[in-house]
Amino acid sequence: MPLVRALACLLLLLNGCRSSGPKQGFVPYQSVTLSIQQVSPHVYRHTSFLQTNSFGRVACNGMIVADAGEAVVFDTPATDSATVELLNYTERVLKVRVKAVVPTHFHADCVAGLAEFHRRRIRSYALISTIALAAGSQAVVPQRGFAERLALRVG
Ligand SMILES: [Zn+2]
Repeated sequence: MPLVRALACLLLLLNGCRSSGPKQGFVPYQSVTLSIQQVSPHVYRHTSFLQTNSFGRVACNGMIVADAGEAVVFDTPATDSATVELLNYTERVLKVRVKAVVPTHFHADCVAGLAEFHRRRIRSYALISTIALAAGSQAVVPQRGFAERLALRVG
């Protein structure tokens, strides 16, 4: 009997470990322009591609943090079409409502998809200095600025 109890405890422990890993049944997204991989239970990496004169086709990574039906995206994909794919994926497959996007700097690899986020009434937040640089570069400008810290609740 103690052996059965020990096995039951071990199974519970293993099950507990498994539930802290990537979400069971997650299907990575892959297209020519965008891929999405799960890296932890609530964090996904999105990768899109920017065509540059100096370096050719450059992979650009961003992040999705999702929990309990909500998500925040860090950096937009590098194109409008990849952004449409990402937002359709989060809505239809992850089944979360993206409540905010946070570009980490003002280059196209982080802000190129902002117009699509704004079109879907998703608020954008960035450092005040990022907003100033975006405004001077003909990029779409993030809507709300913060000085040092920003706390966004997900879920
Ligand atoms: Zn950049």
